[in-house]
Amino acid sequence: MKKIVVFGGGIGGISVLKKLEKYKGDKLDITLVEPKDYVEVPYGMLRAIVDPLDYGKKVRRRISEIVKVRHIQAKLVKLHKNKAILDNDQTITFDYCIIATGSTSRGFEDLKINYKQSFNERKKQWEAYAEQLKSKEKIAIIGGGTVGVELAGEIAEAYPNKKVLLFHNSDRILSPLSKGASKKAHRVLSELGVQIILNTRATIEENNNSKVVIDNSGKRHEVDIIYKSFGNVINTDFLKNNFSNKIDNKNQIKVNSYLQIEGVENIWAIGDINNVPEIKLGTLAIRQADRTASNILKTLNGKKTKPYKPIKGSISFITLGRKNGIAQLPFIRLDFLASYKQKKDLFVTDILYKS
Ligand SMILES: Cc1cc2nc3c(=O)[nH]c(=O)nc-3n(C[C@H](O)[C@H](O)[C@H](O)COP(=O)(O)OP(=O)(O)OC[C@H]3O[C@@H](n4cnc5c(N)ncnc54)[C@H](O)[C@@H]3O)c2cc1C
Repeated sequence: MKKIVVFGGGIGGISVLKKLEKYKGDKLDITLVEPKDYVEVPYGMLRAIVDPLDYGKKVRRRISEIVKVRHIQAKLVKLHKNKAILDNDQTITFDYCIIATGSTSRGFEDLKINYKQSFNERKKQWEAYAEQLKSKEKIAIIGGGTVGVELAGEIAEAYPNKKVLLFHNSDRILSPLSKGASKKAHRVLSELGVQIILNTRATIEENNNSKVVIDNSGKRHEVDIIYKSFGNVINTDFLKNNFSNKIDNKNQIKVNSYLQIEGVENIWAIGDINNVPEIKLGTLAIRQADRTASNILKTLNGKKTKPYKPIKGSISFITLGRKNGIAQLPFIRLDFLASYKQKKDLFVTDILYKS
């Protein structure tokens, strides 16, 4: 029997475990190392902040209800080829491991995950955020990328009387996507009442009594709440001692076409943390998890493994409130597909409630 450890029980980690757990006790001894006792779908959270009691109920689920594997609630702090040191000072050994520790949002300080919180504490905290938002009039969102745009759409649609300001530092929101996609997002958000302020590197003045966003023209926008959406930091610190030459200049893990760390055949790295040349999305973390689980099972059975084929070009499904959206595929936009994401409750049920 081979010992396998999965580090990180987010979208990629849970998906790989769903596939591997069928072989538990027979071919595999499986352990998950994840500090939290729950999984939360990041893209559901933007809707959960305006609908914490109904939709918000679905977006977070206890790990023990999804997979039945040994779960150590700790963080990986140092990785070796066949063992790992955790932040509870425990050392665990393995034959194979999969790293799926993802990334952490920069900004969104108030909404950030606290690794020590339990499922119930996180649920209460989120309900409190939602209550706080309900009571505020003027909302500023800094950053017009996918997250800022989706959040603006959710808030403006749920609360038509609130003033929502979206600040972005280039000449169009969703700037990595096609001009047509930016134009549509701009139009739909404007129709929902969002005021979009482009070409501005917003300066924030915040203290206990007031919150002000200053745009490039020097205009001061007094607001009640500020959401900062500044992209992500990749969680790969635990590789810095033994595998520093396996991290690229974006802090991503260098992997081969089988998603194994270059030159280290017993360690796979999937999802946001690897340097696979494709956009970082939950749907693609799941695709990588499926390929990895299948290759590990093939390896156990002495069969030939298959490389992972990255999706080339941009692919994004962006919601603009509950009724509208953009579906950008590698060479074409098929926005009607965005309604599929809406109908499938943003894929939350597939990830958390289906085996
Ligand atoms: C607000 C937002 C909106 C998004 N919208 C979309 C969307 O619409 N569609 C889409 O497909 N994608 C979307 N994404 C991207 C998607 O969420 C990520 O690509 C996906 O979650 C990556 O999966 P992952 O398994 O690599 O990492 P994650 O899902 O982030 O999971 C990482 C896990 O590792 C754990 N962890 C971290 N450090 C350690 C450690 N040292 N030891 C052990 N465990 C650790 C964390 O607690 C976490 O559970 C969005 C992301 C955000 C933040």
